[in-house]
Amino acid sequence: MTTSTTIDAARVELMLTELRLPGIKAVWARIAEQSDKEGWPAARFLAALAEHEMVDRGRRRIERHLAEARLPAGKTLATFDFQSVPMVSKAQVMALASGDVWLKKGANVLLFGPPGGGKSHLSAALGLALVENGWRVMFARTSDLVQRLQIARRELALESTIRKLDRYDLLILDDIAYVTKDQAETSVLFELIAARYERRSLLITANQPFGEWGKIFADQAMTLAAIDRLVHHATILEMNVESYRRREALETKRGRGRPATHATIKKTEKPDAD
Ligand code: ADP
Ligand code: MG
Repeated sequence: MTTSTTIDAARVELMLTELRLPGIKAVWARIAEQSDKEGWPAARFLAALAEHEMVDRGRRRIERHLAEARLPAGKTLATFDFQSVPMVSKAQVMALASGDVWLKKGANVLLFGPPGGGKSHLSAALGLALVENGWRVMFARTSDLVQRLQIARRELALESTIRKLDRYDLLILDDIAYVTKDQAETSVLFELIAARYERRSLLITANQPFGEWGKIFADQAMTLAAIDRLVHHATILEMNVESYRRREALETKRGRGRPATHATIKKTEKPDAD
């Protein structure tokens, strides 16, 4: 009888559970069998198990970060049609998706454009890419987050609530202009912006230019102070295109099925060179 057959497998599993090594627990029996069959040195067996645990932990961490990010489903960079937003550079967006340059120094991204132009899609897609690249992100409709912060202020917990949001390298505040007048007056949004300034990044989408931001904050001075902090280190993307939905609907009506850019490109484009 070999040593491995005399080992109490159930006890091994109990110990692995106790030690919180679910990655090893899932594969040890299979790898032990392979190791026995192929006569691995003991060190190689141990290394293979450790490797599994590492990979599994990385995967689980990203799964957790994806769940906490609350991103709208199905919005990815792969499904974002950059050709319909010619003023936005795909290369620039791809560079933002790595996160390294801007998230490390707490810089911001501001996305402007009329409704339906793809602001929410692009910001969610960026958020997803950043989570996949190991960053922590949270996506929120601005008015929902402001409501949460207002409740925190009432409970004298605003500061600690804002501090807890520090765990996110990036907060995506979608539709900042939907903040209502009574939300503006509590100025919790300003406190959030001031607290994150030069430390933690914000990605803000707005369908109103700065000139119309008066109702988002309590008064003119606060509006200017907020804008000043947001733009100090910021990439500003203007998405001045007509509603994607509307264009798609129009193209369908004309019988082309897809916006003209898709249809012609798909027909004439040569297969990928590489
Ligand atoms: P906004 O937030 O600017 O109002 P959305 O991001 O909600 O616009 O876009 C409206 C709809 O059109 C969404 O379903 C979105 O996925 C889609 N959409 C917008 N722009 C694009 C694009 N360039 N490529 C693919 N889908 C797009
Ligand atoms: Mg939107």
